[in-house]
Parts: sequence; C-alpha cells; structure tokens
Amino acid sequence: MNIHEYQSKAILKSYGVAVPNGKPAFTVDEAVKNAEEINSKVIVVKAQIHAGGRGKAGGVKLAKSIDEVKQYATELLGKVLVTHQTGSEGKKVNRLLIEEGSNIKKEYYLSFVIDRQTARIVMMGSEEGGMEIEKVAAEMPDKIVKEYIDPVIGIAPFQASRMAYAMNFPAAAIRKVTKLMDCLYKAFIGKDCSLAEINPLVVTADDDVIALDAKLNFDDSALFKHPDIEALRDETEEDPKELRAAKSGLNYVNLGGDVACMVNGAGLAMATVDILKHYGGEPANFLDVGGDSSPEKIAEAFQIMLDGGQSKGIFVNIFGGINRCDAVANGIIEAAKIISEDGKSIPVPVVVRLEGTNVELGRQILKDSPIKNVIMAETMEGGAKEIVRLVKEAELKA
Ligand code: GDP
Ligand code: MN
Repeated sequence: MNIHEYQSKAILKSYGVAVPNGKPAFTVDEAVKNAEEINSKVIVVKAQIHAGGRGKAGGVKLAKSIDEVKQYATELLGKVLVTHQTGSEGKKVNRLLIEEGSNIKKEYYLSFVIDRQTARIVMMGSEEGGMEIEKVAAEMPDKIVKEYIDPVIGIAPFQASRMAYAMNFPAAAIRKVTKLMDCLYKAFIGKDCSLAEINPLVVTADDDVIALDAKLNFDDSALFKHPDIEALRDETEEDPKELRAAKSGLNYVNLGGDVACMVNGAGLAMATVDILKHYGGEPANFLDVGGDSSPEKIAEAFQIMLDGGQSKGIFVNIFGGINRCDAVANGIIEAAKIISEDGKSIPVPVVVRLEGTNVELGRQILKDSPIKNVIMAETMEGGAKEIVRLVKEAELKA
C-alpha cells in the first residue's frame, strides 16, 4: 500500500527524522492559511499524488509570496499531472502539501528496501540525489552504495558511519545523517514497510539534514497490524479494478495490456502472463481466482476484466486441483448470464484451457452451452497463441 508524501513525512517525524515544517491542503483557501501560518520567505507548493517525478512535471512550485501560493494552488488543484511514473493518463491532484522552503546546498538519495536475494533489508545511498535513482543505477552504478542489515542486530553504528562517509556528506552533517539513518530504519521496521525512500535528502546551507521528499510503501500482508496506516488509504489513488477485486477476494493486478487472463494459483498466473508476452500479447492483468471457484466469483472476475473495455480477449487457464473444471465451466456460463442481456454472449473472445479434476465434464459443459465466443484449447501454449491471434485480429478490424 502507498500513502502520500505528507503522510509519510508525519510518520517519519514521529520517528525523529527531520522534515520541513508543512501541512496538507485540500483547497486554495487552506493552502493560503497554511502558508500564512508557516510564514517563511519561500513556500513550497507540492502536488500530492501517489507517484514520483512531480518536480519535472511541474508539480513542485516555489512561491515567494502569499499571492504566488494562491496562484500555484489554484493551478495545481484539480490538474492532471503526467509524470514518468503515472503512465500517460496521469493522476489528478486533489491534495497539496504546503511547506517551508529549504535552502539546499546539496541533494542526496537514501532508501531502505527489502533485498530478496540476501533476505535482508538493504540501505542504499547516493550523492547523486534529486534525480531518478534508476538513471543513476544505469549510468553511474558506482555512485550507489549499499549496506546490508542483519535483522537481529539492526543497523549497526559503523554501518551508518561507513555509509555517511561513502556518500561524501560534509563533516558537519555526518552525525545528523547517521542519526537520521537510524530513525528511518526504526520507522521501516516499526511500520512494516517494503520501501522507505528519501529523494532528495538534503544538506542545507546551515548543514542541517532534512528529508525533503518521502515515500513509504507498506507490506500489505502486515497491514492488519497497523490500523493507523490502513486509515491513510486514499482510494482515489488506487486502480478501481484492483479495489473492486480486493473486495471480492480476487488476487488481481492491472498490467495495462489488452489480453486478460483468469487463472487459478499464483504460479500458473505468472506463467500465463509470461507465455502471453512470449507470443506477442500484452497481458491486461494478473488474476488468481484462488481455490474457491464459485460462479459468483468467476462472474465478478469476468466483469472486472471486461470493465471499461480494456480487455479485447480473455484467456481462462485453469488447472483443476482443489478447483473442479466443471465448477469453473459453470462459472463461465453464469458469468455470461450476468454480463449479457441474452445470457449467452461475452463481448470478447474467450479461450479456455482446462486440465485436471473433472476436465472432460468441464469441457462438455462448455461445448453444450449456448454461449458464443468461447473456444476450447487443448494446451496452455495453444491457448495462449490463439487468444493473442484473436486479440490482434480484433485490433486490425477496429
Ligand atoms: P518528486 O519530483 O515527485 O520526487 O518531488 P520532490 O519532492 O523530490 O521534489 C522535486 C525537486 O523539487 C527536489 O529535488 C528539489 O530540487 C525541489 N524542491 C523541493 N522542495 C524544495 C525546497 O524546499 N526548496 C528548494 N529550493 N527546492 C525544493
Ligand atoms: Mn523526490
């Protein structure tokens, strides 16, 4: 789960990380009121969306007067910001962060993230802050330094010092930086984060060390322990299809393409996404319906996949283990009843590959059904090829 920058900063502040003085605003009046309260020469007006790259996209403005705060707030609220992280459709700005301006001497990068290979939390830092870290990693990988943290010991003081020196912080800032690293690590552990990123972490003209930006991601599986974090969820920032799927217990991730797939089991779902891509298709989603394949659940999955016209074809790839193939077949028929007026048409081609328990019965049910547009595939490979071909054909016609 993601939260906004101002929410992340409030959490980090409670762990002792230095952040600029600031407050969120939902309206222009509130922005002006916050700016008057902060009362500093430079006021920063920042768009709050769940995506980075706002600076380059015009979502971070430096105001030198209350009038300018008003002007920037008016400009940004309601605007759709397109950054390199939002995709071309962008994200609408509904909230702002009004902040005291900082006198930046140099920008750095600092983050904690889980490294799956070593099964440890890794601290990453760079003196090339402010810019996209992916770019630094690609163009000057030696400018990124890492410390792997033993989960039993936690971040050792020597690791923080080694990191601070390797990142070339000025001497006057070293102690402040190592303290900040310690606080950030405690926040990461305390809130079950999957990512804590500060970009930029700045040293000011007075050698103060401040988190100028903050991004926290949380481990969804640990959210039940953190109702305070769950309460920060901003549903307007989340994919409506993913929200709907979560409510009906479906494991769904929108991948943006047009070949939808409905699969049981996460491993098979991953393999299905891979094979669609292998045959030149663009997967619309990852969808694991799990072990319970009630017709209602399958109908809901179909509706989510078809919602908004994103999918131009559906590949059903089921291995009947706990799921029975006949139940899945009946689910598809029920789905057609719910989706279409005549009860027998699904608006896009559906290729179905069934294997496992009661497979013969499942195939027979679909063969005998009045639904049009359903094609049976013998193998996963054949099914993937077929749906990609059908979607391409539909695209050519359109
Ligand atoms: P992002 O582009 O979405 O990651 O947004 P950031 O919060 O990182 O802001 C982008 C850039 O705006 C930073 O790298 C800074 O250069 C600049 N910026 C943000 N806050 C301040 C500030 O208080 N003073 C100054 N001078 N620049 C700022
Ligand atoms: Mn940033």
